[in-house]
Amino acid sequence: MIDLVVVGGGPVGLVAAVHARLAGLEVVVVEAHPQRRDKACGEGLMPAALRHLQRLGIDPPGAEIRGIRYVDGRHDATAAFDHGPGRGVRRTALSDALEARAGALGVQRIQALVDDLQVDSRRVVVAGIAARYLIAADGLHSPIRTRVGLDAPRRGPRRYGVRQHLGVAPWSDLVEVHWTPSTELYVTPVGPDQVGVAALGARPLDLRRAVAGAPVLAERLEGAPVVSGLLGAGPFLQPTRGRVAGRVLLVGDAAGYIDALTGEGLRLGFEGARAAVHAVRSDDPARYEREWSSMTRSSRWLTRGLLSAASSPRLRAQIVARAERHPGVFARAVQVLGG
Ligand SMILES: Cc1cc2nc3c(=O)[nH]c(=O)nc-3n(C[C@H](O)[C@H](O)[C@H](O)COP(=O)(O)OP(=O)(O)OC[C@H]3O[C@@H](n4cnc5c(N)ncnc54)[C@H](O)[C@@H]3O)c2cc1C
Repeated sequence: MIDLVVVGGGPVGLVAAVHARLAGLEVVVVEAHPQRRDKACGEGLMPAALRHLQRLGIDPPGAEIRGIRYVDGRHDATAAFDHGPGRGVRRTALSDALEARAGALGVQRIQALVDDLQVDSRRVVVAGIAARYLIAADGLHSPIRTRVGLDAPRRGPRRYGVRQHLGVAPWSDLVEVHWTPSTELYVTPVGPDQVGVAALGARPLDLRRAVAGAPVLAERLEGAPVVSGLLGAGPFLQPTRGRVAGRVLLVGDAAGYIDALTGEGLRLGFEGARAAVHAVRSDDPARYEREWSSMTRSSRWLTRGLLSAASSPRLRAQIVARAERHPGVFARAVQVLGG
């Protein structure tokens, strides 16, 4: 029997596996897909997420991000990160860097779609592998979360995200968020001649139409070639009753998700992965639940607050104006989210 099986070889599952190896645990990652996959993501690694990876010996290529800018056509607010830059990184480049580090540390990777799970008081068995613990990093719609009964009823707006890349040199080292009456558009520099554009909102969500609704952005992107396929994800809101069921610990998006509008899924996922591995190592899974709650509290609070403002047409129309009028408050929020 090994120490740990991680289900899901996305960024959070691979970071969990790297933490596990560095803690001296024997770990296997089970991933459904044979090759690294692209995924809908704004691709902004917040400063704390980037530092987390660098401490693990992972330094993916990308474009530096120095802060966040909110724009709505009439108002404009910018806040720089106080504790070093973040980085815009293509998901494919992030996967390559994570897989290389995991492989170098001796993480075993098995390709299998996990559709069954046996758990008892001593061990967990999936895909023919018996382990003391299972970390489920199987994403937003986590089948394992459902299987162990940790889904909670969903009450709230059903929001989705789509993204695509355009071949244009970044005009800024900020992540720009263009607020329109129905959509938030995120522009992230990811390389010397490429930006990612993600749109978040309710369905139907049409990226081209959303960009047309943000004239400042539409002008910037006019005529730029599309250089990646359109990918989408959602609905975002995935409430959970908890993160631990016996020997199963949920991490990353599987641990519960509110919305992508604060762009910190990877940061929270990496920090959660570290905490889950520590709990496994100390044979105290309940410790993970406590740590997760305290480490995500301010982000959850901010995300819910911003989401609630974004859902009210009256408040939504004032978000950028208020950020412009209260730069200190905006800057503090950006530090909480960026870490
Ligand atoms: C439009 C959009 C914009 C975003 N912008 C940002 C941003 O700018 N910055 C940021 O930090 N975050 C952002 N996020 C959030 C971020 O993408 C997620 O938080 C992150 O991808 C979570 O990673 P994960 O490893 O938990 O899950 P995933 O990346 O979803 O990985 C899950 C893995 O599990 C595998 N899997 C699933 N089921 C099984 C199974 N049964 N058996 C085996 N394998 C399985 C899947 O194949 C997949 O590889 C954004 C999200 C969206 C949708």
